[in-house]
Amino acid sequence: MFFLKSLKFKLLFSYLLVILFSFSLATFFLNKRLEANSLHELKNSLTSQALLIESRLSSVNLSQANAAGLETLVKELTPRIKARITIIDMAGNVLAESERPFSDTLKMENHAQRPEVKEALNGVTGENIRYSSTLKMKMLYLAIPIKLANAITGVVRLAMPLDSVERMLFGVRKIIYLNMFFASILVFVLGFIFTSGIVNPLNKIIYLSRKFSVGDFNHRIYHPAKDEIGELADTLNKMAQSLEEKISEVKLKSQQLEAVFQSMIEGIIVVDKQSRIISMNPSIKSIFDIRSDSSFGKPVIEIIRNNELAEIVKSVLNSGQAVSRELTLLWPVEKVFQVNAAPVIEKGTCSACLLVIHDISEIRKLENMRRDFVANVSHELKTPLTSIKGFVETLLEGALEDKENSRNFLKIVQDHANRLDNLISDLLKLSYLESKGALLKKQDVDLSKLTKEVLVGFTSQIRNKNIEVENSLPEALIAQADADKIEQVLINLIDNAIKFNKERGLVKVYSQDMGDKIKIIVEDSGVGILPRDISRIFERFYRVDKARSRSLGGTGLGLSIVKHIIELHAGNTGVESTEGLGSAFWFTLPK
Ligand code: ADP
Repeated sequence: MFFLKSLKFKLLFSYLLVILFSFSLATFFLNKRLEANSLHELKNSLTSQALLIESRLSSVNLSQANAAGLETLVKELTPRIKARITIIDMAGNVLAESERPFSDTLKMENHAQRPEVKEALNGVTGENIRYSSTLKMKMLYLAIPIKLANAITGVVRLAMPLDSVERMLFGVRKIIYLNMFFASILVFVLGFIFTSGIVNPLNKIIYLSRKFSVGDFNHRIYHPAKDEIGELADTLNKMAQSLEEKISEVKLKSQQLEAVFQSMIEGIIVVDKQSRIISMNPSIKSIFDIRSDSSFGKPVIEIIRNNELAEIVKSVLNSGQAVSRELTLLWPVEKVFQVNAAPVIEKGTCSACLLVIHDISEIRKLENMRRDFVANVSHELKTPLTSIKGFVETLLEGALEDKENSRNFLKIVQDHANRLDNLISDLLKLSYLESKGALLKKQDVDLSKLTKEVLVGFTSQIRNKNIEVENSLPEALIAQADADKIEQVLINLIDNAIKFNKERGLVKVYSQDMGDKIKIIVEDSGVGILPRDISRIFERFYRVDKARSRSLGGTGLGLSIVKHIIELHAGNTGVESTEGLGSAFWFTLPK
């Protein structure tokens, strides 16, 4: 069935059709022409022969009485005339007949009604072609009147079989048909070769075009001939090459985009017109703690249950306008986000929405912390300054004369000034630690020796409170650290352990081996810390009991400084405590 629809068949069929049509047309017209010519020739020859006979008969008595005479005359003419001769009188009776014996002649039926005879009796040459039942063949009849002094006396009719004409026409037709047959075979063979020359390269082109259409550009069409097919092959080859280049360019770009998409810290979601998720990057999964891999195709509200976000998506999809908004999420995580939603415009309409979600919780937290810090610092500075101002004013207003009190007042002013000094030096230490300039001068530090030296500095406080100190650090406990900074850590922790301890309390310093790290624990038997305070104890200015801390000369920055120094050493800090029983502050350092 396919062959019937193929170009090869159509071309071959059309060639054959042209040959058949032209031969048939030629046969038809040639046949007609030859037939007409032969008839014309035949008629001319019959007419001249009839005229010859008519000239012989014009003076002869044409009556049945003279039939025998006429018969003799006709028989005499027969060898010269190559036709059947019939002599008919005015009444239509046959008087003589060249191909019938005389005895039959007068018995023949009347010929007056024969078309050619009728015309001849009317004075004109009559002719007719018809099938002779007598001779069982097609005959040409020609009759002319026999005239004597312009009066018609009878009719001479000549008849000739047409089979010679037909035979000649048949012969011609046979030659034409034979030619047609051979021409058809030739056309078929040549057509097959010629159409194969067109169709085969076309089939090759179709085969390779199919390969191109599925993205296989490794092939090229080879057709060196400089014809239209060669041009088509050239164009297709060029097209394949440029497509290959374009596709690899697009692939590269999409890979680059994908890499950016995958590695972006910002969460990205693309949703379609129905708010269903088309794609999302890994960041979005970690931001919203999305565990399932089957989020694709689901409505965004199902994955991130936030009405505000769903509203943003809806508004962008409906209006085609970008929206930028900050929103706070309580579920599945409590966070603050900056959401930028942009429409994806395709053919003039908004077909999708691109959401870029930036987690700004940390920024907000830091902002809050900075704000709190400024407020705290101002407050911490303001309190001693107000006191100093108050006492100085009192002294100036006359208290200076009161020797006893003025000394006390100046002592208080000195305490506050010391507090301010402590506060500012702690703040400077903190800001130095926070700045990138805090480079560690790492060296082998003997922690046991360092602790002993620090404890010596606390001798008077220890004695005043009757504290028992137990330094169980093994000899030559070496850590890779900045000695000055670790000394600061030990000072702050031991200071707290003494400050927040009871009379006759205990302070223990000991260590634990943690593999590649050393854990140092400073334990006391003091007031302890409530669990709710433990999480905030390392924050700047966080104090469980502000008044108490202040009265003990604390700034609320000690533990903060400890944490910063230990973090600079890539170590950890922590505390375990039971209220009323004591606390154990610890830090780790690399060996
Ligand atoms: P401060 O200058 O007040 O000591 P820190 O940052 O060193 O500031 O300590 C913060 C707070 O932590 C203290 O005010 C105190 O409430 C609590 N704290 C610190 N160390 C101890 C401890 N060993 N026992 C009980 N509470 C402590």
